[in-house]
Amino acid sequence: SVRTRFAPSPTGLLHIGNARAALFNFLFARHHGGAFLLRIEDTDRERSTQHAVDVILDGLAWMGLEPDEPPVYQSSRQARHAEVARELLEAGHAYRCYCTADELRQMREQAQAEGRAPRYNGMWRDRDPSEAPPGAPYTIRIRAPQTGETVVDDLVQGEVRVANVELDDMIILRADGTPTYQHAVVVDDHDMAITHVIRGDDHLTNSFRQSQIYALMGWERPLFAHLPLIHGPDGGKLSKRHGAQSVVEFREQGYLPEALNNYLLRLGWGHGDAEVLSRDEQIRLFDLDGVGRSASRMDYVKLTHLNGVWMRVADDDRLTREVLERLAAHEGLALDDTAAARIRLLMPGLKERAKTLVELAASAAFLARGVPLPFEPKAKALLTDAARTMLRDLARELSPLEPFGAPEIDAALRRFAEREGLKLGQVAQPLRAALTGSTSSPGIDATAEALGRDETLARIGAVAL
Ligand code: GLU
Repeated sequence: SVRTRFAPSPTGLLHIGNARAALFNFLFARHHGGAFLLRIEDTDRERSTQHAVDVILDGLAWMGLEPDEPPVYQSSRQARHAEVARELLEAGHAYRCYCTADELRQMREQAQAEGRAPRYNGMWRDRDPSEAPPGAPYTIRIRAPQTGETVVDDLVQGEVRVANVELDDMIILRADGTPTYQHAVVVDDHDMAITHVIRGDDHLTNSFRQSQIYALMGWERPLFAHLPLIHGPDGGKLSKRHGAQSVVEFREQGYLPEALNNYLLRLGWGHGDAEVLSRDEQIRLFDLDGVGRSASRMDYVKLTHLNGVWMRVADDDRLTREVLERLAAHEGLALDDTAAARIRLLMPGLKERAKTLVELAASAAFLARGVPLPFEPKAKALLTDAARTMLRDLARELSPLEPFGAPEIDAALRRFAEREGLKLGQVAQPLRAALTGSTSSPGIDATAEALGRDETLARIGAVAL
């Protein structure tokens, strides 16, 4: 049965290109009723801190892409990598290379002088190890085929091939006994019984070298699917200046995981004109034949639009929790139960108007503040002497309402406006300014209801003449 894996190197960042690879692996496995696995490629001990691993685990958990089996840490498998290298050695498919650093440097310099890519000249391919100085360090290189071709039938890119003379005898085990990337990936994918390797197309050419190891070991090769990269909006490499690049940044900027997943899926995969897809629909529809071959461009406007769509259907309790966390973290507001209850009550109106959680929190902040409110200049300008006098009279109309609910408040405002010969807006706008400190909010009746009678009257009282 299908087994896929996501194999990030822990570098302290879960780039969205990687996140999309994780999503595609996850969806492909689910679609085929298989398993999605995680392998942490932490062989670079310097860069692989626990923090860097946590960034990946947290990011995947946030996106709802948790693996079906405990993660495999590549660093824990070094003995196995060495064992396979020795098997290749004993079978004559690999050999010891005693090349010195100086000799390798000469090969590089010569290649540079001739304007070609450096390659190992095979100097130890047919030499006997006894010719090396006793105790000299050695690497293990595969005896790569020198004739014929290596062909990969990529499920996205189609058939790709390389003449074997192009590929030199690569190192699989370094002098210190550690495996190289190509070798570790093959051994691990084989041992994890991976059937489909779905990853960024920056790894496409690696699949040639990896194919050679599979062939020499007599192992069945998984199928490969190399995904086009994600570029910035200008077509260049996605970088900081374009906005967020990592999952954590999107989260901080107030995107919902559903929206990011939905966006990343649509970026490079299509099914008719389906735009907004739930996880269940994604699983039902996803397959590799819908993956495009060309690089896609990150479109933050489209992502933000999708986020707004997902916000409107998101659960109000959840959005309230998100807003409370943000207000506590960024505004330093004291968030008691009263503030929480107000925000929850007004959430249906608030979420209609915000495209991100950052906007949503900003639009809800007034509910968590007390008198005196900070006023936006435009709101301040609405509070003319006439308006402040009007608000004083309006308070008398509002204070006895029972219950203090949106329909009662709305009726009272209409009654009051008619009696005073004012348009509804001439009442509602100054009231909004007094209650929220701004000129936009959900319906003023719902807003006043959420604040409650006492707070509504206190805020009017603070500005009324
Ligand atoms: N660890 C590699 C990376 O993060 C991916 C290896 C693979 O998917 O085969 O680029």
